[in-house]
Amino acid sequence: MADLEAFKEEVRAIIAEHLPEELRVGNRPDLPKEPLGKWISVMADHGWITPDWPKEYGGGGLDRKHTAALKAELKKVRAPVVSSFGVSMLGPTLLEYGTEEQKQEFLPKISKHTMRWCQGFSEPGSGSDLASLQCRAEKEGDEYVITGQKIWTTGADRADWIFCLVRTDFDAPKHEGISFILFPMHQDGVEVAPLTLIDGSAHFSQVFFDNARAKAEHVVGPLNGGWTVAKRLLQHERSTDGSSDGGIGGAAKETISDFVKREVGLEGGVLADSTLRERLAAHEIDKRALGLTMRRAAEEARAGQKGRDIGSLGKFRWANMVKNEQDIAVDAAGTQSLGWDGPGYESAQLERTKKWLITRADSIWGGTNEIQLNVIAKRVLGLPE
Ligand SMILES: Cc1cc2nc3c(=O)[nH]c(=O)nc-3n(C[C@H](O)[C@H](O)[C@H](O)COP(=O)(O)OP(=O)(O)OC[C@H]3O[C@@H](n4cnc5c(N)ncnc54)[C@H](O)[C@@H]3O)c2cc1C
Repeated sequence: MADLEAFKEEVRAIIAEHLPEELRVGNRPDLPKEPLGKWISVMADHGWITPDWPKEYGGGGLDRKHTAALKAELKKVRAPVVSSFGVSMLGPTLLEYGTEEQKQEFLPKISKHTMRWCQGFSEPGSGSDLASLQCRAEKEGDEYVITGQKIWTTGADRADWIFCLVRTDFDAPKHEGISFILFPMHQDGVEVAPLTLIDGSAHFSQVFFDNARAKAEHVVGPLNGGWTVAKRLLQHERSTDGSSDGGIGGAAKETISDFVKREVGLEGGVLADSTLRERLAAHEIDKRALGLTMRRAAEEARAGQKGRDIGSLGKFRWANMVKNEQDIAVDAAGTQSLGWDGPGYESAQLERTKKWLITRADSIWGGTNEIQLNVIAKRVLGLPE
């Protein structure tokens, strides 16, 4: 592997050549499509979308230090993060539980960003109590026939495939009759009905299965042993390095501190509003502490200290932090934070209102805050039920 300094130089050179200025604004929903597509191809060609996956599955084959260096260089220039359910959740789960055939079939497409996935876990009545799910899969020859409903399925309307929890043993105790299965969304028997969210967008859908088909070879992990696979995937979903910059919406290059300073102004070199000043300082300290804690947890995991479900701790703190950041932004902007549409508001201000609203969901997806606290109590602190 290249010497670390030489590798960083190489990364900087590729960024300089291929990442246009207009994309150096972090993740935004309105990034121009064509340059973004080109940049994603560059990332994929270098294995940078999944830098630490093995090369034979389309990854970059980088070790921990090189992966961290790559991420730091990309972050420095605010390159858009190429993330997906495939990259952050399914891929790591397949690396652990998939057969060699499943790895060969799916991982390279995830690494190249050419196969979009959605997550079919939640059902009406089975959110926190996920193991009560009722969606059925019945064996017919070398296929499973799937019937039932999923809900809150993010990106279902754009996904090519779904990783789905289904009941394959109807008599077993609830955790023991579930399988984790993969199948295409574009087939007869799959209907997607988008749901409109509080910010006016429609990111997620209800999904109905009526005799949809999955190949039996696409069950991941043991038949009826899908609960263990799902728990692992949820750990990946809940893992965050704690350093992500949520962005405050509307002014992409601005950090929350810059934004508040601009809105409220300075007095004697410090923020003019002492309450906001304290809230902002506390927020920055939290952010730093969370980043360091998650880094330490990652180091511990790499050193072989297993069994602590630190992902839930990170997800809980991160969700609160992101919501707090939006609250500070809204309070700093005062009445200009209240716009929904119409005159009197700039588009950046309207975008910020929507961002504030949508971040309310951060303490719900992937398991609510209350559920994370239950997990922390049981698995991190070892408290009794
Ligand atoms: C933005 C977003 C995206 C999502 N994307 C997906 C997706 O792609 N795929 C998918 O499958 N799902 C997705 N979900 C669904 C999400 O996983 C569920 O909403 C979540 O697990 C909560 O389930 P629920 O909505 O049924 O609430 P419920 O489980 O009904 O919970 C309602 C309230 O009761 C509390 N509660 C429940 N049980 C307990 C308990 N034992 N102890 C203490 N409190 C409890 C909860 O914390 C919550 O406050 C998404 C949700 C959101 C908001």
